[in-house]
Amino acid sequence: MSDLIVRLRARGWRITPQRQAIALVLDGENLHLSAEGVVERARRILPGISMATVYNTLNELVAMGEVLEVSTGSGARLFDPNATHAHHHLVCSACGEIHDVQADLGGRAPDMLDRHDFLVTGYSVVFNGLCQNCQARRAAER
Ligand SMILES: [Zn+2]
Ligand SMILES: [Zn+2]
Repeated sequence: MSDLIVRLRARGWRITPQRQAIALVLDGENLHLSAEGVVERARRILPGISMATVYNTLNELVAMGEVLEVSTGSGARLFDPNATHAHHHLVCSACGEIHDVQADLGGRAPDMLDRHDFLVTGYSVVFNGLCQNCQARRAAER
């Protein structure tokens, strides 16, 4: 059973078949799915599930802090169930692949933020670059 479902049950979230299908889709390591991707996979489990239900549930899970919303700069919002461990993302600018990376970047936000009088409660960094496969592909093309 997925971690997410266990966490949601513990919070007393009512697990409907629709919610269960969505939670099952969002089970795994290194998972970053667009809303459309979640709809597509949820329909493999529960063919009748509507797009609106998936969107609403995703927004609810994000609001609850059980699913992270990741913005990679390329437009689409991605949903990430790895919400219990603070992490950053490596985003390949060639193939779009995303990887979680646990990195301690010093524990606090950069000092330059102090002058904005903004209380920082957390941050995550998107590292843009090339994944191993794309680096190899580029090297082979040369
Ligand atoms: Zn790549
Ligand atoms: Zn992630």
